[in-house]
Amino acid sequence: MKVPLLDFSRQDPALNDELRAAFERVFASGHFIMGPEVEGLERECASYLGGLGQIEAIGVSSGTDAILLALMALGIGPGDEVICPAYTFFATAGCVARTGATPVFADVLPCCFNLDPAQVAARITPKTKAILPVHLYGQAAPMGALLDLAARHRIPIIEDAAQAIGAQFEGRAVGTLGLMGCFSFFPTKNLGALGDGGLLVTPDRALAKRLRALRNHGMHVKYHHEAVGGNFRLDALQAAFLRVKLPRLDAAHAARRRNAAHYDRLFLESGLAAKVEGPCQGEGKPLALPASPILLPRACGESHIYNQYVIRIRGKQGHRDAVRQHLAENGVMTEIYYPIPLHLQECFAPLGYRPGSLPVSEALAQETLALPIFPELRPEEIDFAVKTVLGFIKS
Ligand SMILES: *Cc1c(COP(=O)(O)O)cnc(C)c1O
Repeated sequence: MKVPLLDFSRQDPALNDELRAAFERVFASGHFIMGPEVEGLERECASYLGGLGQIEAIGVSSGTDAILLALMALGIGPGDEVICPAYTFFATAGCVARTGATPVFADVLPCCFNLDPAQVAARITPKTKAILPVHLYGQAAPMGALLDLAARHRIPIIEDAAQAIGAQFEGRAVGTLGLMGCFSFFPTKNLGALGDGGLLVTPDRALAKRLRALRNHGMHVKYHHEAVGGNFRLDALQAAFLRVKLPRLDAAHAARRRNAAHYDRLFLESGLAAKVEGPCQGEGKPLALPASPILLPRACGESHIYNQYVIRIRGKQGHRDAVRQHLAENGVMTEIYYPIPLHLQECFAPLGYRPGSLPVSEALAQETLALPIFPELRPEEIDFAVKTVLGFIKS
């Protein structure tokens, strides 16, 4: 059986018709940069995430650019430090480095793989200008503890919610909890464009105004540049496509959750897998990891949107890669997010981190495996993927 990691050809044909109609609408308008489609998407996203009037949403060119723009808007640069997790996609820390500031890597929690508040607390210095948590794989970071810490030290939080549009923390959408939230519309994200795109949100009106100017070369009035910004604009076409997909987003989340529950059930029935129990380590007591060969993704917050379904396969070095190889030989496509933690990336070698310095991130880089989870995945494909993993583990 061939089980793809993602398959856009299974997308609802009615959705495809609507996307073609959106293309025709923008094509006929001749309005390709900014304009009513982008403004419409911004209103609709603000309303989806936090309620119009509560937050402002600003469409940008990518999730990466959303993070870069957020840092630029705070004037972060050389001599400043920004604390971020070591186990995340590169853009989180890459943007910090691009401003000239120093990314300060903190380890993550073994329960939800998100930024460990105790690790953040230990790294705060007078140079810390922002904390940059990531809601990894679509699950909220321990925001209660992080927001407390940030408030106590008067440090802004910029949320990297690139993988987590629609995930919640205590009933509020992630990305709307800190000073700014960054989203990505990369095609593999739960709300994916047909190309690159991103979004910034903030409840701060003055900041929103600055972000809008920086998005377009620092100008509010044409050819009057108050600040040095750049071209961080979202295409009208992408905005139009996203407006077609946004009303279907909650149904897509529900399908992903159904798939995750199916995986969980089959893995747990095998007796070879366990879910971590107890309160999130980030909100209090440390918890012990069960000794099972497979650990299942743990929903620490109340809502996980499963941008990825990532299991942890324990064993000696190379075991996870052998499982992946076995799955590939049997037609089951998987991915490794992320094989090298950021503090050990070649480009950050000048920062002087050593192997062993952030042990949870390093263990996850060796042990995690993302299984197919896209909404249109079929139950029999999940059955087959689990059977193939278990067959190898038992052998
Ligand atoms: C996808 C992603 C980004 C970057 O988004 P792009 O739209 O691809 O630039 C940033 N951070 C995380 C955690 C991501 O997963």
